[in-house]
Amino acid sequence: MKILVTGGAGYIGSHMTDMLVQKGYDVVVLDNLSTGFREAVLNAELVEGDIGDQSCLDGLFSKYKFDAVLHFAAFIEVEESVANPAKYYHNNLVNTITLLDAMVAHNIKQLIFSSTAAVFGEPEYTPIDEVHPKQPLNSYGRSKYLVEQLLSDYDKAYGLKSICLRYFNAAGCDPEGRLGPRHEPATHLIPLVLQAISGRKEAIKIFGNDYATRDGTCIRDYIHILDLCSAHLLALEKLASGGETTVYNLGNGNGFSVLEVIETAKQVTAKPIKVIECGRRAGDSAELIADSSKAKQALGWQPKFADLAQIIAHAWHWEQKF
Ligand code: UDP
Repeated sequence: MKILVTGGAGYIGSHMTDMLVQKGYDVVVLDNLSTGFREAVLNAELVEGDIGDQSCLDGLFSKYKFDAVLHFAAFIEVEESVANPAKYYHNNLVNTITLLDAMVAHNIKQLIFSSTAAVFGEPEYTPIDEVHPKQPLNSYGRSKYLVEQLLSDYDKAYGLKSICLRYFNAAGCDPEGRLGPRHEPATHLIPLVLQAISGRKEAIKIFGNDYATRDGTCIRDYIHILDLCSAHLLALEKLASGGETTVYNLGNGNGFSVLEVIETAKQVTAKPIKVIECGRRAGDSAELIADSSKAKQALGWQPKFADLAQIIAHAWHWEQKF
């Protein structure tokens, strides 16, 4: 199969591209390198271009006959999305519509879409299954949820089949240390904790210690990036064998607080860390834990790296390169 990976020079997209290539897929990456890195694309063609550029897409889709698109290209920072929603709606929503329309025009009928647990907002129950109410707390989550909703219309009207994968907290990296998060400044918890341990940052800030959780800090479900990628492969196979448009939540089903992540990182690295307690960050839910039983049943998906210490150990391997 010939696959287009948008955002394939980014953190998740580059791991996905690597896994697809290793599995024998023929992959082209489309990335505007706004937050991605050329050197993160291993053994695949990189086309430097924008998902919102219709003539670029027309050229690409005329040149190659893609069977499916894996769409990772997006802005992903919660706090930035609260301060600058227009940036998020333009790229994540409007540009995605441009991509979808080009797919329809060129008769590409299979899409795997990167969605997020941020579509849910503050949980009404936990763990969170697919039918849980969606009330995003920030424009990042809302931009992703709007795409999820329009995808069902694109299926009905144009026969575009899609699987939305809602990632909980993607973490870890290639165990061999070839790929990992490169974007600076880092904004996600585990890379920031490890930068504070390695000395690249002075300290880790804890954003809020007054949440209604067991230790007052936010709880998240950290899922190894290779487990996310394996779910994409299964979703791709599902669509290729006639699967219907649907959505799956992807997480381990275990929640760890910010303090627990910091403690585990101290143990894994056997090093100290300086911690600064700060106020809450805008747009954060207290607790996000996935119920992934639908993906397990329908796709046969099973996370292989569910241990937080192992996730952090792989990320530490990467951090030590800097
Ligand atoms: N967090 C923190 N300090 C940081 C970065 C993140 O306390 O320097 C917290 C953040 O408020 C959230 C959790 O760690 O409760 C996970 O945040 P991250 O940005 O990694 O992922 P998100 O859940 O926002 O997608």
